[in-house]
Amino acid sequence: MSAREWLNKDYYADLGVSSGASADEIKKAYRKLARENHPDANPGNAQAENRFKAVSEAYGVLSDPDKRKQYDESRRLFGSGGFGGGGGQGGFGGFGGGGTGGFDIGDLFGGGQTTTGGGAGGLGDLFGGLFGNRRSGGGSTTANRPRRGADVETEVRIDFAESVRGATVPLRLSSPATCSTCHGSGARPGTRPRGCSTCDGSGLVTRNQGAFAFSEACPDCQGRGKVIDDPCTECRGEGVSTRSRTLTVRIPAGVSDGQRIRLAGQGEPGRNGAAAGDLFVVVHVAPHRVFGRSGDDLTITVPVTFPELALGTTLTVPTLDGKVSLRVAAGTGTGRILRVRGKGVGRKDGTHGDLLVTLQVAVPSKLDGKAAEALEAYAEATADHDPRQDLDELLGR
Ligand SMILES: [Zn+2]
Ligand SMILES: [Zn+2]
Repeated sequence: MSAREWLNKDYYADLGVSSGASADEIKKAYRKLARENHPDANPGNAQAENRFKAVSEAYGVLSDPDKRKQYDESRRLFGSGGFGGGGGQGGFGGFGGGGTGGFDIGDLFGGGQTTTGGGAGGLGDLFGGLFGNRRSGGGSTTANRPRRGADVETEVRIDFAESVRGATVPLRLSSPATCSTCHGSGARPGTRPRGCSTCDGSGLVTRNQGAFAFSEACPDCQGRGKVIDDPCTECRGEGVSTRSRTLTVRIPAGVSDGQRIRLAGQGEPGRNGAAAGDLFVVVHVAPHRVFGRSGDDLTITVPVTFPELALGTTLTVPTLDGKVSLRVAAGTGTGRILRVRGKGVGRKDGTHGDLLVTLQVAVPSKLDGKAAEALEAYAEATADHDPRQDLDELLGR
């Protein structure tokens, strides 16, 4: 039997045992099923005969430590029934040939749910129950299996300066977390969950119906494989309780509005020993009244007078943490952007972006008589200079 053919088999489900079953449990299950389905006890019953063959085949592999190891390995690598269309077709051949038992139809559809076409989908609906159980037929049920905790997303608002410099902010979260009373076991402190005796802790029971044998979630433990006689009052046996907790979150310097920060392992706790999910913090940055941002650079627009640009000056320009002097050369145009090195946003490597200063002429809305006279004199003095002359030239007029 090749590994590929093994993919179409679920020997553990065939024997109704968990994938962690001991050699004794396997032997016991085999003996019981073999006795029940033995051809001598069921003369002329093809169904029982097929079942007997399947059980025998399963036992042939699982009772041999080497073969079982190989089988487990192939399942681990490819998943049971997770091989998709190819595996499904193989299973179909086996089924059509009549050489294998009723159980194999489950394998046929095991991976087909998502990977094969509409026809198989229809059959999937037909065997809906079979499907669900097949996927968890490896003995550890969905509820029983370690499951990574869900990721949690929350938001935080910081101001502009905090986004540039970085900040440490307290974050109050109300989310499911490992129950602190029972430490996640779900059992009242001092007690422990016990293995379910109905399903031997596998979470699965096997039920025969018509041509098919169904593995289904154990009704006594809801597929968990464990029974809690005395549940924790805090979490009512769930092992997880919703509680408020306050986290201190370090927002790195240079965070931008809408950015998500990941805090590994601060999400919902995992089940059955699995890792916790992550916490994502979406950062909202309040806009600044003066400064803007362009990548790692800060931006500011500074009003200047026409004489300051025309004659040159030294400006005092605010930065986020103080002031700098900025030399403006005579004849600088309005709208010109000057760069102040290192006064921008901090980067991961310790360097900083720049402050980009846009110079913008402020035109007075009113002029007193003296200023108006002076400007008129200026206009007269420069009357033979037309600033729009270049436009006409460029347009060829
Ligand atoms: Zn609890
Ligand atoms: Zn059970």
